[in-house]
Amino acid sequence: MTLPTADTRVTYPAGALVSTGTVLHVETVGDRVAVVLDETACHPVDAAWPDQPADQATIGFGDDGTEVTVLDCVVGATDGTELYLGDAVPVKKGTEGWAFLAVHLIAGDAMTAAGAIEGATARIEVDAATRHALSAGHTGCHLASLALNAALADDWRKEVVLDTLGAPDFDALACESSRIAPHASTDRYRIGKSLRRKGFDPAALDDLEALGARIRETLDGWLDSGATVRIDRDGDGLTDRRRWHCELPGGPAVLACGGTHAASLTEFSSIAVWLEREEVDGAVVLSMVSTVVPAG
Ligand SMILES: [Zn+2]
Repeated sequence: MTLPTADTRVTYPAGALVSTGTVLHVETVGDRVAVVLDETACHPVDAAWPDQPADQATIGFGDDGTEVTVLDCVVGATDGTELYLGDAVPVKKGTEGWAFLAVHLIAGDAMTAAGAIEGATARIEVDAATRHALSAGHTGCHLASLALNAALADDWRKEVVLDTLGAPDFDALACESSRIAPHASTDRYRIGKSLRRKGFDPAALDDLEALGARIRETLDGWLDSGATVRIDRDGDGLTDRRRWHCELPGGPAVLACGGTHAASLTEFSSIAVWLEREEVDGAVVLSMVSTVVPAG
């Protein structure tokens, strides 16, 4: 049993849907089999920040191996002695001596028939429609959170860290979870004691209708600009830094991001945003759901 010593090379940031790689490692995990390739187009879900779900994909081994369904694709890591998957990974990305991997999980009984053996070639094919919808949802998510920051810019009494467009970064300071879905996203923000201490006035969330209107106005302006979107990356490795880059009218917006995205805002006809607030354990929790409507 050999385990990889370098990160998986990933091609999904550039938009790849198909890849051919070599099987580096095969390991039984419960009733599934973990398959690690040197290169993949399949986006894995990252337990450390599970915003974008795994791609739906198939994997075929060798020249005539049957195609099997990738049941799940998760970020794993190894120190060379053991393979850890998902939230069992005990170290942070970038830890010396560890390789971070996209791990494809297939059904255990599918392995032998499919010919999943170390050294075999493996062809990944990602479901294009689902990827496209997730990419749209992810781009919409970034735009909605930047528009939320802008809409709340006057509701801070102290100086705090600013976002890429120069507004106080409510999103970075308050975001509890972010989930991307096909053509949609849900972000949850927690306004508790620590955010109040940083100078945020929760009364800003009293009139959600007005707040939503300001967000939509910003989003409409951005969509009208037809801005292009690209992913810049320091390298092909799974943990190499990648940045979402969107040429908005007020200047480029740049965010650290490991996901996949639309290529241009011309792909959308509108982005709808719903806001909801609730009290949870004495804190205010704001939920923002954004839905991207594809251009017809
Ligand atoms: Zn992102």
